[in-house]
Amino acid sequence: MSAIRVDGERVATGVLAEVAARIEARLRAGLPRPHLAAVLVGHDPASETYVRLKRRDAERVGIATSDRRLPESATTSEVVDLVESLNRDPEVSGILVQQPLPPQVEVEAVVAAVDPAKDVDGFHPLNAGRLLLGQSGLVACTPAGIIRLLDEYRVPIAGRRAVVVGRSNVVGKPVALLLLRRDATVTVCHSKTTNLAEVCREADILVAAAGRLGLIRADWVKPGAAVIDVGVNRREDGRLGGDVDPAAAEVAGWLSPVPGGVGPLTRAMLMANTCRAEEARRPG
Ligand code: NAP
Repeated sequence: MSAIRVDGERVATGVLAEVAARIEARLRAGLPRPHLAAVLVGHDPASETYVRLKRRDAERVGIATSDRRLPESATTSEVVDLVESLNRDPEVSGILVQQPLPPQVEVEAVVAAVDPAKDVDGFHPLNAGRLLLGQSGLVACTPAGIIRLLDEYRVPIAGRRAVVVGRSNVVGKPVALLLLRRDATVTVCHSKTTNLAEVCREADILVAAAGRLGLIRADWVKPGAAVIDVGVNRREDGRLGGDVDPAAAEVAGWLSPVPGGVGPLTRAMLMANTCRAEEARRPG
């Protein structure tokens, strides 16, 4: 048996087309274009690449973008001041604070400074709390993208056993909450989990978000399971690899590859969140 390859590029293209159509309809109704403002502190090369890709996606769907830059030496209060000015700017629909921030900048203070209504990353404590309480709010892009992938491939969620490997605030915890919201029975694993292999073998849906190359072995995968590989790791030869041994494709029912699985969805969901933030602000 060979797993169905979960094609993130294809699903992301669909999400972007939906967003483009919603924006087009708003423009026809005389409403302004959504606007995504990115905050960049210093010159992290990976951040520059991510922001460039996000700008390209934004152009494709009709979202205006702007970059606000601060020097590597910026203080927490300088970054917070910039974020607050974007909160007040009526032109700005969504604010993206590109991480990593330099070590002297308190990430929590900056994230908490973002207006929750413009928090298109879904990292603000209010939006995280809404997710916990089952209320509607802006949801972090990677977890939202994972659910979208499962839905696109009609993977049943309700009543199924889901195992999430990783408990970060940006991936593991929110995806576990989204799976719970969809009536999965969810187990969250982390670096102190004992018998990780056995727990993984119980999963109908296995989300690997540990950031450890090849951690999940093929014989940890239940035959027919949906395996979503979130990990992005650098192999010795420089290529990217996931947390799941590619040989799992012989066992799984569905497998999302790295690269080409979750990554494109993360960026597409950012566009969807920016559009949603603007729609909530100016319903039209
Ligand atoms: P993170 O903050 O480093 O969290 C990693 C989690 O994995 C932690 O909860 C950690 O446990 C757990 N873990 C680490 N080693 C483990 C092991 N041997 N066994 C079981 N659990 C283990 O990372 P993250 O931000 O959540 O990201 C996870 C991965 O996804 C990274 O590779 C990242 O690059 C990737 N990612 C991809 C996208 C995308 O769009 N494709 C987006 C975001 C992240 P403890 O809590 O006990 O330390």
